[in-house]
Amino acid sequence: MKCSPQRSHIMRSVKSKNTGVEILVRGIIRSLGFRHYRLNVKTLTGKPDIVFRKAKKIIFVHGCFWHGHDCGKGNLPKSNIPFWDEKISRNKARDLKVIEKLESEEWQCLTIWQCETKETDALTNRLSEFLK
Ligand SMILES: [Zn+2]
Repeated sequence: MKCSPQRSHIMRSVKSKNTGVEILVRGIIRSLGFRHYRLNVKTLTGKPDIVFRKAKKIIFVHGCFWHGHDCGKGNLPKSNIPFWDEKISRNKARDLKVIEKLESEEWQCLTIWQCETKETDALTNRLSEFLK
């Protein structure tokens, strides 16, 4: 499918935001003293963002828009609605399947949403609970 210039502009801005969120989450993880993790592990279903192999724990960092979070930040753009609606629905369905598959392989999964990174204390607590 061909991307209109406007559409790829939206994609770029959303992607770069998501990367910033990942960096923030990794910073918190390091500040909690966890240093042994791998990023974007291709050999696992869904290429998880942050993987703790020994502990069998996985953290996904999801952009609210791309992954269809129900928080307001996940609202669809005003134009090309059918396109986005279909794309985001596919992403959501895939995310669910990925987590089901990983959990069936005994991985513990945690999803961090972009919007949650505004509350750094709450996020730090969640990560600390999950990783301990
Ligand atoms: Zn959200």
